[in-house]
Amino acid sequence: MTSTHAFWLAGRRATGEDAFDVTNPYDGRLVGTASVPSDAQVEEAVAAAHAVREEFAATPAHVRAAALDHVVRRLTERTEEIAQLISAENGKPVKWARGEVGRAVSVFRFAAEEARRFNGGDAQRLDTDAGGTGRLALTRRFPRGPVLGIAPFNFPLNLSAHKVAPAIAVGTPIILKPAPATPLSSLVLGELLAETGLPAGSWSVLTVPNDRMPALVQDERLPVISFTGSGPVGYSIMDSVPRKHCTLELGGNAAAVVLGDYASEQDLDWAATRIATFSNYQGGQSCISVQRVIADTAVYDRLVPKIVAAVEALVTGDPSDPATDVGPLVSEDAARRVGSWVEEAVAAGATLLTGGTRDGATYAPTVLTGLPATTKLACEEVFGPVLSVQRTDGEAEAFAAVNASEYGLQAGVFTHDLQTAFRAHRALEVGGVVIGDVPSYRADQMPYGGTKRSGVGREGVRYAMDDYTYERVLVLTGL
Ligand code: NAD
Repeated sequence: MTSTHAFWLAGRRATGEDAFDVTNPYDGRLVGTASVPSDAQVEEAVAAAHAVREEFAATPAHVRAAALDHVVRRLTERTEEIAQLISAENGKPVKWARGEVGRAVSVFRFAAEEARRFNGGDAQRLDTDAGGTGRLALTRRFPRGPVLGIAPFNFPLNLSAHKVAPAIAVGTPIILKPAPATPLSSLVLGELLAETGLPAGSWSVLTVPNDRMPALVQDERLPVISFTGSGPVGYSIMDSVPRKHCTLELGGNAAAVVLGDYASEQDLDWAATRIATFSNYQGGQSCISVQRVIADTAVYDRLVPKIVAAVEALVTGDPSDPATDVGPLVSEDAARRVGSWVEEAVAAGATLLTGGTRDGATYAPTVLTGLPATTKLACEEVFGPVLSVQRTDGEAEAFAAVNASEYGLQAGVFTHDLQTAFRAHRALEVGGVVIGDVPSYRADQMPYGGTKRSGVGREGVRYAMDDYTYERVLVLTGL
């Protein structure tokens, strides 16, 4: 059974004249139909966001925090239903979809906590110079203005949560635009927000088609853009609105480094299992999926067969089956593109150790070695279940290999050595270094974002709240 999902216009349910189908990438089954807002409805949502900004900023923290708490409760109650929906619209194995709902719960919980303690402000004495005698500076943070939040398909609920929850926490209106392949879980999030009684206009969820997005991006009543998605789209948005405040959370080709001291059987089993799992979860469609393994020559010959065995042990198939580890990619086209990159690498001299086959939208977990540095797989973000292993000698060479990428989201370093951990933190040109695990580890309260082509700015609840606001100083004279 399928249904037509309304969008959310200034906090209330609405439908437009057009609609589009959302299908399950695994079997092409219709999951639901999403209604599309007209230009007039989009205008209404933007005007409402603009009009309510002062009222929303003045809404007491305890009211906004209670609304966030409400979403925590309702997401928790509806976890199974929403997980099934994410799995169906995205093709994500249902066990990972449950995890995603759990993470969205955490995002709203952190936002509720932060809403209660944000904006304590600061005081600074100014009488350190003669001209400041009798003066005091107080600072507080105020919203920059309504936010346009643009979300990708790969974590359709949690990355929408990362846009919306911090906005409510600081009292800034937000218009959320979910990805066209996966809008339904964000529209269900709208149901929960509608139950909170937040001021009309303080939030909207609009399924605007991509070809109508430039007008929304240009709208001066939305001075903040928080974008998560691919580099070409993100940078074209930022270039088109140079005076807006843009956060870009973009792609990567994250590396896991296994150093020579990480050498016991237990160490290598752990590293291999984590690498295999987090190269392939979501079919590799995570911006911090393990794409490159950089293995020290002291462990390489023992590590590679363990990685291949762990990859081959993953269960590929129907995402609704609780036993499935790896489901389809978002579309058959995406799987074809991944296949063409693997073929290019093999033709250029790479060795295929396992995988390399496609069945519809599902691409088999794939491991390569000897990848020439000029291939797309070596340079770009594959966004599929493919990893390559590279042999290096010593810490400096391994760190240089990590930094040889044009991307810089996160890196994982398997080592037991504390000094090495600090050196990695200093040397690696990424937004986050994870010691003893894969680069794919993310806790939703941590600062998260990239360097180089991986983007600009940071998310992670508190950090997005900083980003959505600016510091305004109040100078008091005559004290
Ligand atoms: P995408 O760039 O195709 O789409 C992202 C969003 O932008 C969608 O909502 C889409 O509808 C919208 N969009 C498309 N054209 C637009 C336009 N002209 N103007 C405004 N919006 C437009 O990305 P995707 O395929 O949905 O997501 C995959 C990408 O996202 C990967 O590169 C992945 O690495 C990246 N990603 C990054 C992070 C991070 O936090 N760094 C997290 C998840 C995904």
